[in-house]
Amino acid sequence: MSTPLDRSTTWPYEDGEPGEFSYARLGSPTVAEAERALGELDGGEALLFASGMAASTAVVLGLLGPGKTIAVAEGAYYGTAALLRELERWNVRHVEFDQTGHPPAGADLLWVEAPSNPMLTMPDFETAAAHPAPVVCDATVATPVHLKPLEHGCDVVLHSATKYLAGHDDALVGALVFGDPETAARVRELRSRTGMVAAPDVAWLLLRGLATLEVRVARQTASASSIADRLRSHPAVETVRYPGFGGLLSFDLADAEAARRVETSTRLIANKTSLGGVQSRIEARGRWEGDRVPPGLLRLSVGLEDVDALWSDLEQALEQARA
Ligand code: PLP
Repeated sequence: MSTPLDRSTTWPYEDGEPGEFSYARLGSPTVAEAERALGELDGGEALLFASGMAASTAVVLGLLGPGKTIAVAEGAYYGTAALLRELERWNVRHVEFDQTGHPPAGADLLWVEAPSNPMLTMPDFETAAAHPAPVVCDATVATPVHLKPLEHGCDVVLHSATKYLAGHDDALVGALVFGDPETAARVRELRSRTGMVAAPDVAWLLLRGLATLEVRVARQTASASSIADRLRSHPAVETVRYPGFGGLLSFDLADAEAARRVETSTRLIANKTSLGGVQSRIEARGRWEGDRVPPGLLRLSVGLEDVDALWSDLEQALEQARA
């Protein structure tokens, strides 16, 4: 039986006092059930937010204050960098560092991404965990199927659950998973005050997505590995980035014009943004990220379609790059 969807925003007091659920901004049954399921997967205490970026905002506001410095992985999700630039107005500073090496001394929070989107580097967890600052790991791309950052010394796991966890491009939702219940309680309080909480409908969609997460990610990994191998031997492709697991890869063509020709020539693979859905999609990231990425970089999120059909589509599109 699937979990009931409870859209109530208010519940009766019990003997004149608020019970487990009283008002939906503070907590609600469907959201709590999805948090329980995700917490179990990641091995910690999960909180759901209105989006991945709401979760990112909550982690900064909850753990830091003015005058503090975040060391963020260079090449991490461009939206994270944009948020941190926004927060500079509140005197929260950030510096970028190469997450495969040593984080800068003196940082108050380390922010790694596993693997980074779209550069697909992996953090050096051991070195990060040895730093005195708490470590936040954005594990959106890895998912708990491939990585449980709390087991690698991280303090907080961040997910854009919009991606693989919900998995069907129909739910905008974010999550934080904490190893320490006291930090979780502090951020829960902040979430109640700011109202950044996820809605019951998306929590229900997340629960439905989690039920198939493992099989989806296993198939996406098998297909993405095969496509990465084939791309490596294609004459139009200069660089392929694939960490060896998961459904996301990126590759470079000679220039932005070649990338545009390819992304607009695929038929089975949609030309659209985001990642982690059942439908494959490709896009040139330069349109969003400018010179943060090589001009010919294409990001491919592999879905559940037949792998040979995906390759044929990509191959015919790559012919356009050589035209
Ligand atoms: N983190 C990563 C790695 C992402 O790819 C994204 C979105 O693309 C986010 C965070 C932000 O998540 P959302 O779009 O759910 O706010």
